Amino acid sequence: MTITYPLKRGLYVNLTNRCPCRCVFCLRQNGDGVGGSDSLWLEREPTAEEVCASIDARDMSLFDELVFCGYGEPTERLDVLLAVARHVRQKLPACRIRINTNGLSDLINGRPTAPLLEGLIDVVSVSLNTPDPDEYERICRPAFGCQSYDAMLAFAKACRQYVPDVVLTVVDSPVTTPEKQAACRAIADSIGVRLRVRPYEGAQ
Ligand code: SF4
Repeated sequence: MTITYPLKRGLYVNLTNRCPCRCVFCLRQNGDGVGGSDSLWLEREPTAEEVCASIDARDMSLFDELVFCGYGEPTERLDVLLAVARHVRQKLPACRIRINTNGLSDLINGRPTAPLLEGLIDVVSVSLNTPDPDEYERICRPAFGCQSYDAMLAFAKACRQYVPDVVLTVVDSPVTTPEKQAACRAIADSIGVRLRVRPYEGAQ
């Protein structure tokens, strides 16, 4: 079972296959890995100890960062994510730690979660996907319904207080017109975070 996998200059952590969204563009619909990885479908969810052991078995000098991003939404396992981040922070204080997320952590966990990231997470990358809440619901199909878009933005905004670098992302695709990208940038500006237009390559 693939708990960690290298991708470019990052070591990626695959905590879960659960996700409250069913994005029409999700890689999981057509594949079983990312960037040539082994299958990211998990036989079962790994414990924090198993995740830490998988990271400890790697030569972290080969990587620029540790990234929580696999075949599911990492904040579905927030307690494990935080325990692993704490372990890595203690062992490798200089290692950059990033979460790629759909931004629905507060709805998933039923409480404000951005404060829990303080001192542990360096970068939170939130999938914005579109400047239009209705389109968001259509393409991401979140289980939480129409409250999801605002909750995602509220989470990103809250993260600013606790995480040094907060990013909203939109996938570069034929349907992401320059106008849509500009509107996404305006949203990012309005909550004081940066926008990244990213190539289509991963589940988040
Ligand atoms: S793209 Fe990300 S948020 Fe969307 S269904 Fe896939 S794992 Fe979930």
